Amino acid sequence: TPSSTTPSAGAADLAARLDDLRRAYADLQARGLKLDLTRGKPSAEQLDLSEALLALPGAGTHTAEDGSDTRNYGGLAGLPELRRIFAELLGVPVDQLLAQGNASLTLMYDTVVQALLFGVPGSERPWSREEQITFVCPVPGYDRHFAICEELGIRMVTVPMTPDGPDAEAVAALVADDPTVKGLWVVPTYANPDGSVVSEAVARRLVSMPAAAPDFRIFWDNAYAVHHLTEHEAKSANALDLAAEAGHPDRVLMYASTSKITFAGSGVAFFASSPANVSWFTKHLGIRSIGPDKINHLRHATFFGDAEGVRNHMRKHREILAPKFRAVVDILDERLGDSGVATWTRPDGGYFVSVDVVPGTAARVVQLAKEAGIALTPAGATFPYHQDPDDRNLRLAPTMPPLDEVRVAMDGVATCILLAAAEATAS
Ligand code: PMP
Repeated sequence: TPSSTTPSAGAADLAARLDDLRRAYADLQARGLKLDLTRGKPSAEQLDLSEALLALPGAGTHTAEDGSDTRNYGGLAGLPELRRIFAELLGVPVDQLLAQGNASLTLMYDTVVQALLFGVPGSERPWSREEQITFVCPVPGYDRHFAICEELGIRMVTVPMTPDGPDAEAVAALVADDPTVKGLWVVPTYANPDGSVVSEAVARRLVSMPAAAPDFRIFWDNAYAVHHLTEHEAKSANALDLAAEAGHPDRVLMYASTSKITFAGSGVAFFASSPANVSWFTKHLGIRSIGPDKINHLRHATFFGDAEGVRNHMRKHREILAPKFRAVVDILDERLGDSGVATWTRPDGGYFVSVDVVPGTAARVVQLAKEAGIALTPAGATFPYHQDPDDRNLRLAPTMPPLDEVRVAMDGVATCILLAAAEATAS
């Protein structure tokens, strides 16, 4: 469960320990480490879980359930047998779910570009013809969402994350008053980076709040829908149904992929939405492609068999990942637990641990870590334009390195957090 108290800089005794901490840091540097906690990539051990995919579907196997030849053109919506599996997992009707290429980020980018060029159902004009477009960005959030906005000239305004997802009242106030607000980014399950899960109440509020823009959309990026780290498997709120019930059936655009299920570079991405949005998206999709890689769809459908096959597969990921996340949290508890210089999340799923350090010291922590051979995601990465106004948030990604390296790196990070806090207090 994510925690959400603010670190008190009330660690004056830390300043007294400055010399000790400097010595500990010098020892750390002397170890000549070369460790990396930057990007949320699966480890080789996780990729090995899907090694059998490389032999699928196998020479001689290319016919889909409906009799079509997966080697040929066509099938724009993706292979029905794979869509059925993920429709069940994502809680959406099969005919409202598309299976596409290897990256959901591409589908998000395409959606925004198409909205800019053509408008979405309900738009008065293409978004690019508006004087200004604004997206609401919950922070800390996913850097690549913000990068899409930045590249395409979309203004970003931030709202805080809470343990139940984005601060729904803050979002509702912005969306109700400002017709330039066309979009909201949401990672509903095990959010990147804070691990929070959108509650049913927050989901209801977001899909039902009045919007000044008639074509306001929620980009519901369910990247970690089935990526549980504990036996307590969070269930994502059913945003499409809730939006339809609330009388805003076209408000939610849902994305997911198998990037962190099978192969990060060669998985399958999904898009789900209302019938009107799906047909709008498909119309433009059909101009840019004659059809997706259905052989990869068949490979995945054969590998999983059914939705339970995906769930079982994710339990194997969990066995690999849970000890790494436990190590991160245990070391933070142990080293910083009573220091008052940081707070951190205890995610039940996803790929990240979010740490808030003493305001004004996040960049310093990253620099200290770097100079001790530990690569951390740059401070500010979880905010639009890479600007954390409080210079406080760090995103840790423990999935990729082996467990013993995660331990060593985290112990080092704890030293850097303490030293940066002590320096700040002493100065
Ligand atoms: N959304 C979120 C929230 C992510 O954390 C990531 C991966 N880091 C992605 C999307 C990227 O997904 P894909 O590989 O399907 O493009």
